[in-house]
Amino acid sequence: MNSIVVANWKMNPATLKEAKMLFEATRKAADAAKGVSVIVAPPAIFLRDLSRSYKGRRITFAAQNAHFEQGGSFTGETSLAQARDAKATAVIVGHAERRAGGETNDDTRKKVSAAIVAQLTPILCVGEQKRAQGGEHFTTIKEQLRAGLADVPAAKLSKMIIAYEPVWAIGADKPMSPRDMHEMTIFIHKMIVESHGQAGMNVRILYGGAVDETNALEMISDGHVHGLLVGRASTNAFKFKHLLESLA
Ligand code: PEP
Repeated sequence: MNSIVVANWKMNPATLKEAKMLFEATRKAADAAKGVSVIVAPPAIFLRDLSRSYKGRRITFAAQNAHFEQGGSFTGETSLAQARDAKATAVIVGHAERRAGGETNDDTRKKVSAAIVAQLTPILCVGEQKRAQGGEHFTTIKEQLRAGLADVPAAKLSKMIIAYEPVWAIGADKPMSPRDMHEMTIFIHKMIVESHGQAGMNVRILYGGAVDETNALEMISDGHVHGLLVGRASTNAFKFKHLLESLA
């Protein structure tokens, strides 16, 4: 199975011209990286321009967020149908930076279920703020998974992606250890098997948090994840090229 790399550009770059340049570099790197599927999540305002010009198969597009309602009085929001119309095939749900801005576990439940109805792949982000000796982080992850997946039928789990992103590793100098990630991969599958049955093993799991070209391969092979969610390194064309090369 191909490794998945999500390029979360966050609120970058500043202009469409720069976004097109970054996308062109990403396209070349993705074309050369056999065995890697790249999901580019640009700012919503650039999504249609980038997807319209892309004719290849190695890259697909994701919205960084979308509202769970189909339409209406939600100033500043983007709907799932609008994201799909702009050729997104996936949507990031519950990113730590949105949870920090007030997104709740219940919002993630509604977004995941609306995304499945809209035929978009939900990339549900989960992750604890900090780690403590007592293992409280497992309770946090369990709650985030329970809520986010509450309305997802077992038959749809193979469409789901879970991105485990410990908040303390996002934007940090170093990622968590692949060994700790492996423990978390097992835990996440176990929790979903408990709630949804054996189909829980079909959920794909990504790691995110300070991934770059020096640690990506080790995280996939020793963390036993299907892929990576990459923030900063995905907006640096040089780093991202080397990151994809390291996985190809
Ligand atoms: C992220 O935005 O989800 C992320 C993992 O960021 P970074 O790779 O910069 O730590």
